[in-house]
Amino acid sequence: MTRAALLFACLLALLPVAQAAAPDADAGGGRILVLEALGRARPNEAADALEQLLPSTPEHSTQRLELLSVQGLMLAFVSQGDAAERLALQLEAWGQDTKAPNAAVAGASALLIRARALARSGNLQRADALMQDALKRLPPTLPPRSRYRFVAAYTTIKNDSGKLEAAVRLGHEALALADQTDELWRQAEARTALANSYCDAKQFERARVLAQEALTLAGKVQDWVALSRGYNTMGIVLDSLDDPQGERRSFEAALDFARRAGSKNDEVLMLANMADFFLKTGDYATALTHAERALPLARDLKDRNSETVALANIGMSHISLHHLELGKRYVREAMGIDEQRGSTTSVADMYRELGVYLEKAGDTSGAVAAYHTHRSMIAGILRNDQQKAILAMQEQYDADRRARELALLNRENEIKAEQLRRRDLQQGLWWLLAAAFVLSFAVVALLYRRVRETNRRLATSNEMLKVQSELDPLTGLANRRHFQAVMRQLAADGKLSGTVYLIDIDHFKNVNDQHGHGAGDAVLVEVAQRLRETLREQDLIVRWGGEEFLVVVQSLNPEQVDALAQRMLSVLDRAAVTVDTHRIAVTASIGFATFPIGPASLRVSWERAINLVDTAMYLAKAHGRNRAYGVRLLHARDETALEAITHSLEAAWREGQVALTLLQGRSPLAAAA
Ligand code: GH3
Ligand code: MG
Ligand code: MG
Repeated sequence: MTRAALLFACLLALLPVAQAAAPDADAGGGRILVLEALGRARPNEAADALEQLLPSTPEHSTQRLELLSVQGLMLAFVSQGDAAERLALQLEAWGQDTKAPNAAVAGASALLIRARALARSGNLQRADALMQDALKRLPPTLPPRSRYRFVAAYTTIKNDSGKLEAAVRLGHEALALADQTDELWRQAEARTALANSYCDAKQFERARVLAQEALTLAGKVQDWVALSRGYNTMGIVLDSLDDPQGERRSFEAALDFARRAGSKNDEVLMLANMADFFLKTGDYATALTHAERALPLARDLKDRNSETVALANIGMSHISLHHLELGKRYVREAMGIDEQRGSTTSVADMYRELGVYLEKAGDTSGAVAAYHTHRSMIAGILRNDQQKAILAMQEQYDADRRARELALLNRENEIKAEQLRRRDLQQGLWWLLAAAFVLSFAVVALLYRRVRETNRRLATSNEMLKVQSELDPLTGLANRRHFQAVMRQLAADGKLSGTVYLIDIDHFKNVNDQHGHGAGDAVLVEVAQRLRETLREQDLIVRWGGEEFLVVVQSLNPEQVDALAQRMLSVLDRAAVTVDTHRIAVTASIGFATFPIGPASLRVSWERAINLVDTAMYLAKAHGRNRAYGVRLLHARDETALEAITHSLEAAWREGQVALTLLQGRSPLAAAA
């Protein structure tokens, strides 16, 4: 008793796992739990300590039941089959005493210990059968921690047998049970075990999450065993997720924590796994060293699992170092152990690895054979329906989490939809504004165009009005109003420059009288046409009065001035105008002058200029018609003098004050007629 207590106190001082003990447990139960936690790292010591506690536990008590179960499991774990079986027999006897308290659980616990021992020694199939029986016997009132031991053990057996669907289902069950205890190491252990099953089922992402959760929980209580195993699983996951750096860090951490915890079993497994890492990174010599260190340790511990890993990795290292036959022998030995244990998953994995290293070493046919075996094995393990079942299960266990995530997602979607609606509305508004802008712009443009068009039309019609008001409707020539407008423009100072001709048709009254007013009009139109043909575009021809025409021509020399007068006389009298059947002879009398007028280049207003020319024209009338009189020179100092001279032009001509040019038409007689 004292010794046990003393030993227990020593263990507490040694082990950080003591922190993981359930604080609510009674003194004895608490010790059992502490030793259970310790047993993971140092099963032999813990089993001894439990042995010391046994006498202090009352017969048929829950405590004794728990103690025997935990101790039995530890002994089975370290492959002390005989010692474990002794405890199993005790429990079996208890179970057969149906009147004794906890009989059913005791009987089931005996089966649990035997199943565990069988699994360690390699008989997974029998172990499975015993576990089925054991679980059936458990009363529904069994506390979660006790039930957890059964379910967790069965999970490992299913997993090692390659029954992954069952392993995952049981793993979830174990996790739920562990979470009902307040032992974080157990919660971490449950997650690591489930992560391993997911890893074997190739659900690496899921495995990674669980391993991370395990590490977080283990870290909270500084449980080195749980940390070591969590990191080990994480290393395996990261290997599959192609993260060699993370893998190496994980395995190194796993090895470090295994040593700190003083767990030889874990240390040897980590060594074997480290060998695997060096193999994968191509450092075969280091891989071989690690694996060769792990092998004797595994054998000492009777740890068949680590032994096969070590053997396989020694084999792969040799193959990679081109010791093909030696390497294959090691691998075959490892496979033999696992086959004997019924660990199909492990054998299948070994075939795959063997294929990889044989291929690298150049043994192609050996590699092909290994791959082929792997594929046919894995097809059996990971049958599609099993894979589907695992996924379905995962769905089921994740239902709550997914429901929460979905609710969040829905809320998020609602928000997104709302944002989209708002954005659409905003966009719509912008489009509307843009449309309104474009529309108003179009309307403005249209209105502007209309206004401009209207203005243009107004301008045109004004122009037309103006043109019409300044045009003689009969002959189409400019009228007197137009002439006045032109004069205002050309002669800003009111003085006229250029040569002015005034043409008056001779005896036009007679035409009207003899042929009718219509014939008179026709003659006027014809005269206008002949004048147009005679003159240039830039010359101004005006219908000055009834049968009088005014012509203003710029920039002519005196000869040209006279010649033009002569030409105008002749275009009129050269041919009669035919109206209907009548031939009407037309002549005209013309007065003309060029301004400013010489010799003093007197500048003259257009009214006085026309007055002068008109007077000259009357001289031509007076002197027989069909002739032209031009005022060539006029000796006047100013306009007053000019007016006086105009008044008595003929007298001034005789007196030499005026020089006149006299031009005659072709047939003055005809004109006179
Ligand atoms: P003179 O040789 O002295 O110029 O004789 P005249 O008959 O040409 O001169 P007068 O001034 O006596 O007569 C002009 C006539 O011209 C009078 C008028 O009836 C006619 N007349 C004026 N305007 C028009 C018109 O637009 N059409 C027609 N058919 N006759 C017109
Ligand atoms: Mg006249
Ligand atoms: Mg006349």
